[in-house]
Amino acid sequence: MNKQDILQYFSKRYSDKFKAYPSSIKSEKDNYFFLSRDNYKKYLIVIGTHGICKDFKGDNLEEIKIDKDELFLKVCYLNHHNLNLLRGIFPHLNPSFCGLRASFGTGDRLGIATPAHIQAFKDKDIFPVLAQQSVREMARTERNWQKVLDDTIWGCFEAGYEDPFGADADHVKEIKELKEAADCGFTMFTLDPSDFINKDIEELNEQELNQLYNKIPKNKEIEKLYLNKKFKIDGQELIFDEKSLEKIVLTYSEAINHVVKRYEFLKDYKKSNFDLEISVDETPTVTSPLAHLFVVLEFKRRGVNFQNLALHFLGDWQKGIEYIGEVKQFAKEFSLHAAIAKKIGGYKLSLHTGSDKFSVYPIFARETEGFYHIKTAGTSWLEEAKVIAMKDPALYREIHHFALENFEKDRASYNLTTDLSRIPNIDELSDEQLADLFNKPDSRQLIHITYGSILKARDSEGKYIFKNRIYKILFEYEEDHYRELSNHIKRHLELLSSI
Ligand SMILES: [Zn+2]
Repeated sequence: MNKQDILQYFSKRYSDKFKAYPSSIKSEKDNYFFLSRDNYKKYLIVIGTHGICKDFKGDNLEEIKIDKDELFLKVCYLNHHNLNLLRGIFPHLNPSFCGLRASFGTGDRLGIATPAHIQAFKDKDIFPVLAQQSVREMARTERNWQKVLDDTIWGCFEAGYEDPFGADADHVKEIKELKEAADCGFTMFTLDPSDFINKDIEELNEQELNQLYNKIPKNKEIEKLYLNKKFKIDGQELIFDEKSLEKIVLTYSEAINHVVKRYEFLKDYKKSNFDLEISVDETPTVTSPLAHLFVVLEFKRRGVNFQNLALHFLGDWQKGIEYIGEVKQFAKEFSLHAAIAKKIGGYKLSLHTGSDKFSVYPIFARETEGFYHIKTAGTSWLEEAKVIAMKDPALYREIHHFALENFEKDRASYNLTTDLSRIPNIDELSDEQLADLFNKPDSRQLIHITYGSILKARDSEGKYIFKNRIYKILFEYEEDHYRELSNHIKRHLELLSSI
């Protein structure tokens, strides 16, 4: 008896009820596990000994005969208990450490995108971080760490994926959140000290700056290490003169302390290897090469073992659309950042808001010589919304109108130049024209940033207005969903690996 026999038996006997995902089938001793679906949801099918079937939660346990073998078949739920059992039997389902390999994060707000993401990574030498969600996104999607990770792992199981992947607890600020994510099995932690980055430095006069600076503990120690020190990087000389050092110390010292504390917690708490990313991207100030050099040297000096560093790079980085700014200018400044990273060594540069920044990808991959990490999230949601526009235009029209009503409120936490007046009136568009809205920056951003409001919207009886219908249509048109999404992510990955 082999996997083929099992699948054949199942499809012969249950084809009226379920459809199996053939690539998901895995065996361990005489037990077989695979995913199947009916018209409403997915199930884990376990075929094997009574002992193994008993452990999994589900219903209709039946005794079956395949050839001469007496076996049991159980239709099981996609719940946390069953997933944990599977993770125990098949360790490849557990996320793992990435280290300094080139890597790419695919946030998945709906929790159903992993099989499509995996397709996109096929034959690419880029480590996939398949689970990735920020604390803010979880609030907007009403999910939690466990759900984010479980959904990803079920996706890996469905695709039959056996290679390593990462799980990134993104933009974490509090120790409590780190602890929860570590308990769930996350392997990568992105620390966000942006609340502790001093943003008012530019507005202070010299006297005020000096006063503040003198209050910083150990500032003399810092001066000894950095003042007037020269760093030769890529033919350029970077030097910490009094003024620039003072400003950098004032801007970043609290944030550095914040990161050190959280790192020390993780080092003690997380027993296995983990990836640490430090992100200073969400601040209004562009990170200068000198500031980059300072924070990296300080983290190293204070014993923080980090793999990724996300800076606020030059230019206007907006959600779900191309890079806005002079690409040449970016390339010039970025090559200095890359040279600093090369010179100090031991970490990768990370790009956040990486969705659809096609024009800068080749530069990012080339200059870092493969020492990069890139994060995307919203672009997967946009592909999903596009599939809704293609397959259920009426639902998309409702979502679109709702998004327009919520745009002003939702834009507050984003940096955007969206102009709603440039979006065509969809009442005048034919159904066939709707998908084209996803080729235009303004309509992309409209749907991109209102995702939380769309997913959370409830009617007067407390029922979701869109959420369940969104899942239903993507479930019904799963092949289209996977195809559109994987093609779009592939476009990203190809630009990175063509270098
Ligand atoms: Zn970020």
